Amino acid sequence: MRVEQLNVGWLTAPAGIWRRDDDGDRQVRIPVPAYLIETATERILVDTGLHPDAAADPARRYAGAAALGLFGFEQDASIADQLDLTTLTQVVLTHLHFDHAGGLALLPPSVPVVLQRREWEASQDAAAIARNFYLPVDYAALDRQLVLVDGDHDLLGDGSIELLPTPGHTPGHQSVRVGERLVLGGDVTHFATGVDDHRFPVFADDFAAQAASADRLRALRDAGATVRPGHDPAVLTPGPVEV
Ligand SMILES: [Zn+2]
Repeated sequence: MRVEQLNVGWLTAPAGIWRRDDDGDRQVRIPVPAYLIETATERILVDTGLHPDAAADPARRYAGAAALGLFGFEQDASIADQLDLTTLTQVVLTHLHFDHAGGLALLPPSVPVVLQRREWEASQDAAAIARNFYLPVDYAALDRQLVLVDGDHDLLGDGSIELLPTPGHTPGHQSVRVGERLVLGGDVTHFATGVDDHRFPVFADDFAAQAASADRLRALRDAGATVRPGHDPAVLTPGPVEV
């Protein structure tokens, strides 16, 4: 299989937002990745990046979401600028935050979108929306193409790609194992060191669950897999790898 990391945006915020006990004054710019997995028969996109309207004017697209005023938004090219989205066979979402789900609105309605049921149910609940700052405009039309899974899930039925529930950052967050040696961790940790030091962002649905999920990814790393963190500028370099 071939896995290509794409850049689908940038976010800037104080270091202490992205990583607990970090500097509150220093601004840190982090990349927003998405991944294209190509097999002999499939073209699978993992996450969709920022919506171009959000990158251009977040206050307008997400009117009323005051917390987003903390973040600087940028985008060099949207997912639609980089891929012919009509060629995708399916899309996997790690979770429904705006930097992962923003590009959903650009997809053709015929492309299935695979999500943990727990994440979807949280996104339909007012209290969970507020707690997790989900932005419903990002997924308002998603039910037409939604495929819900529960727990560990063998995506292609041949063991090659496995969805791994890794909750905590959000209620139904999942990671993606691709082959035996690569795990797309999603936002279990923003930085690669987070699987060891558990210095997560200051916001989460459940920090204890997030720590357990980090331990799950650490065990995979210690068994020989490369675990890609969510937003580490020192580690995430666009380009393809063979797995
Ligand atoms: Zn994220």
